[in-house]
Amino acid sequence: IEKIQEAAADGRTVFSFEYFPPKTEEGLDNLFERMDRMVAHGPNFCDITWGAGGSTADLTLEIANRMQNMVCVETMMHLTCTNMPVEKIDDALTTIKSNGIQNVLALRGDPPHGQDKFVQVAGGFACALDLVQHIRAKYGDYFGITVAGYPEAHPDAIQSTEGATPEAYSNDLAYLKQKVDAGADLIITQLFYDTDIFLKFVNDCRQIGITCPIVPGIMPINNYKGFLRMTGFCKTKIPAEITAALEPIKDNEDAVKAYGIHLGTEMCKKILATGIKTLHLYTLNMEKSALGILMNLGLIEESKISRSLPWRPPTNVFRV
Ligand code: FAD
Repeated sequence: IEKIQEAAADGRTVFSFEYFPPKTEEGLDNLFERMDRMVAHGPNFCDITWGAGGSTADLTLEIANRMQNMVCVETMMHLTCTNMPVEKIDDALTTIKSNGIQNVLALRGDPPHGQDKFVQVAGGFACALDLVQHIRAKYGDYFGITVAGYPEAHPDAIQSTEGATPEAYSNDLAYLKQKVDAGADLIITQLFYDTDIFLKFVNDCRQIGITCPIVPGIMPINNYKGFLRMTGFCKTKIPAEITAALEPIKDNEDAVKAYGIHLGTEMCKKILATGIKTLHLYTLNMEKSALGILMNLGLIEESKISRSLPWRPPTNVFRV
């Protein structure tokens, strides 16, 4: 967070990369090789997710430690309340503290597989707000705390295809402010594909007195089915021009990826033009799309990409 503030004072744009714990040993080796290459481009930080329902707890802790101390990148670990009595939460926090990690993304978490609703575990927390309060009360200022923000409101608050009602949206924002007032330093948003919705959200947050940096979470479209799955799960609005652009190319994976890079670039350009200087890339453990977008934006050096990868990101072949 201090690094973001320093960069903002210098007028620099910063970016970060998010990864998730792979399922196999081979996947883990690949991830670290990829991370090494990506970290060479100078992200502000990298983060690792906490598997749904706490399913990857040990692996997430191990990866976070390796990221901080072997890849040597500023690391942020996600931590959720799902299936986590407070002792387990403290085990995780003291472990990362002893490994020198100072950044936590404090989350409630989704319900475990097979459950519809989030259920507070005995001796655990009901929501991210509780977790933020706990971290601040027990660990003082040691951790920089990030929380999740939802430009279209949290999916639980969305009951129709029209999106959240104005009331549900403003309740969600008020709750976000509570998380910030309780000690969160930074907000990273859920993915979105309508940039105007994100910019309105930032404006609405400012109106109610949320002053911390709000980092747009950008998920490049890599694959059509994955895109539909994620946007369905998150109840994300898809602008008509994106559907129209994808429909004719949906079975051509390379074309979808190229469009994803183009779209991500255009979204980021529009965001950066408003003076926002931070971008968070949901990499889905892949590098082409995230690096392609950053290269198009002139935020990383093309020469470093061509040295590190056997491909060249496509030039803009699509028009918006
Ligand atoms: P909360 O902030 O607790 O909010 C959840 C909902 O409940 C909101 O609608 C909020 O308005 C409402 N709410 C809760 N408590 C109150 C209250 N006291 N008063 C009023 N309203 C309340 N999931 C994982 O399992 N692992 C991850 O690593 C992970 N990483 C993520 C990273 C980002 C950037 C984002 C945006 C999401 C991530 N998620 C992850 C998904 C996240 O866990 C889910 O979206 C989850 O359903 C909500 O988590 P939260 O921290 O936003 O919850």
